[in-house]
Amino acid sequence: MTDRSLPRAIRQAMPQAREVAVEVAKQYGVCIRPVPLKRLDVHTGRWEVVDVPCGATLDAKCPSCAKRNRQLRMAQCREGWHLDHEPAITPDEPTDEQRWLVKFRADLQARRDQAVSLGEDTADWDAAIEGVDAEIHEAGMRGNVLGHTVPKRTRSTRRRQDAPNLPKRKMANTTLGRTFRSSDGKVYRPSLFVTLTLPSYGKVRDGVPVDPETYDYARAARDALHFSKLVDRFVQNLRRVAGYDVQYFATVEPQKRLAPHLHMAIRGTLPRAEVKQIAAATYHQVWWPPTDKAVFDGDRLPIWQDGAGYLDPDTGEVLLTWDEALDQLDTDQDARPLHVIRLGDQVDVKGVLAGTPDADQCIRYLSKYLTKSLGDSLDTDNPAQRDHAARMVEALRFEPCSPTCSNWLRYGVQPKGAKPGMTPGACRSKAHKPDHLGYAGRRVLVSRKWSNKTLAEHRQDRRTWVVEALGQPDEPADPHRYVWKPLPAGDANVPPLAMRLLRSVAERQRWRAHMAQLRAEADGQDLSATEGRVA
Ligand SMILES: [Zn+2]
Ligand SMILES: [Zn+2]
Repeated sequence: MTDRSLPRAIRQAMPQAREVAVEVAKQYGVCIRPVPLKRLDVHTGRWEVVDVPCGATLDAKCPSCAKRNRQLRMAQCREGWHLDHEPAITPDEPTDEQRWLVKFRADLQARRDQAVSLGEDTADWDAAIEGVDAEIHEAGMRGNVLGHTVPKRTRSTRRRQDAPNLPKRKMANTTLGRTFRSSDGKVYRPSLFVTLTLPSYGKVRDGVPVDPETYDYARAARDALHFSKLVDRFVQNLRRVAGYDVQYFATVEPQKRLAPHLHMAIRGTLPRAEVKQIAAATYHQVWWPPTDKAVFDGDRLPIWQDGAGYLDPDTGEVLLTWDEALDQLDTDQDARPLHVIRLGDQVDVKGVLAGTPDADQCIRYLSKYLTKSLGDSLDTDNPAQRDHAARMVEALRFEPCSPTCSNWLRYGVQPKGAKPGMTPGACRSKAHKPDHLGYAGRRVLVSRKWSNKTLAEHRQDRRTWVVEALGQPDEPADPHRYVWKPLPAGDANVPPLAMRLLRSVAERQRWRAHMAQLRAEADGQDLSATEGRVA
């Protein structure tokens, strides 16, 4: 609180309490953007306000959470890369759904807040938030997984994307790679580190197109939008050729030219030439309605009518729904895919042995950019880079990012799940945002049988250890113990941020002091095992 009795000049010289709290919190690795949630403890019947670190909810993480997340990811990567036994796969924790909902809720809240700051109507967001709130509540009570499965469309066989012309081995029921025995009897378990890039869209120098006029921004935009699908195909092909259930830990990172590329740790090994052959043969077709002609733009836009959907503003005809447009595409013998995406020639394949400095370096490299968003690689001081990014955003403006994208209205098709208020060029999906530049997918892709643990379990590992070290009984967690409810922004039960941050810092300080004390007490005892886990 500012003391009003102080002279104004002194008051102004005092740093804001909030800023100080944020700085201190950062020093202690405490989340600086905690999300307050209401939590009902069903054992005690009491509601309380609990701060959840932003890293557990939002995609955009604060520096503290980003750092912690990166450490957890490195541990996860290290754990699975050179496994010499099959991982025992346990089903996901029952609280995964809650976590997802809470994350989704926080995301909606952020979007609503943004709409408010832009002076936009928030009715849509309010309705969505209300719906998710109800689900969070229900999920908490049941603690099981909802069966929301949408039946998948079956494409006509003509368009089935056949496996490209690649060698095919008989599938062995294993996730482990081959081992090699040297002449002196030593067993080696080599693995791979692969880097995949997208093709060239035009000559680039220092991350900037030499000729922006001829640089293929349209293609770059579509490739970024569909990149994750291409990665899926690559993995499918990889498994088919390798003949075993290949596992991977991969990260999607921005190149200087602002295109996504992929670093992938692969368990087991294949001949380098074969990996390159697989990359060259991998492609993905996007079977979406054509977008070569803008049917509606400017002031002439489709009109919403309750009960009917979007209408042609001139004729009053109802536009094709998403499903109708796909059906039409299926029956059209001459139809072509909207887009075909392939990998570029630049494929880097490197053999890596477990426990070598090389492996460590790869792991650091894999997680290097995890604390940044794709757009962060942008050098904002460089006008040419700024211009390049702006052109990319422009290319993404009217490009449909998904079946639900409002841009479909521009091409005369109702987006999947059409609702009132949709305008082409105003899709709110993050794919269109400068931070994402077309790639809205996950930054870390980990196959299911990579290690024995999910990221949540790695996090739990650390927590369990802390609880043990503090000498507290590690009671079995009851997944049904808590019911979470979101709090509306500005709820009076939430203390000011500065106070919450300082509280977290105090907690961390207490914990650190306790750890130091334990360590001092154990002086002389063998703590080497524990030390290893602290690092
Ligand atoms: Zn945070
Ligand atoms: Zn969109």
